Amino acid sequence: MQIFLFAGRKLKCPFCERLYGYETNLRAHVRQRHQGIRVPCPYCSRTFTRNNTVRRHIAREHKDELEDTKMFEQSNHSDTVPRCQ
Ligand SMILES: [Zn+2]
Ligand SMILES: [Zn+2]
Repeated sequence: MQIFLFAGRKLKCPFCERLYGYETNLRAHVRQRHQGIRVPCPYCSRTFTRNNTVRRHIAREHKDELEDTKMFEQSNHSDTVPRCQ
């Protein structure tokens, strides 16, 4: 039942450098990371659909950290999020 032949090659995300062995994983990644503007929380690995949502999340979950590091920027184009396989 081997339909897909990857021949040791992996599928590369067209938007970043991630490699995935399965198209479904790649698709999920693209949807999560690159489609619909996701706003990453600077304090944890969660992403949110809106700036408002991430702010509310930070206010609720990261109150303490917020005191410490007030200056975080939205320039999150470097991808440091753990890969979702
Ligand atoms: Zn990607
Ligand atoms: Zn968070």
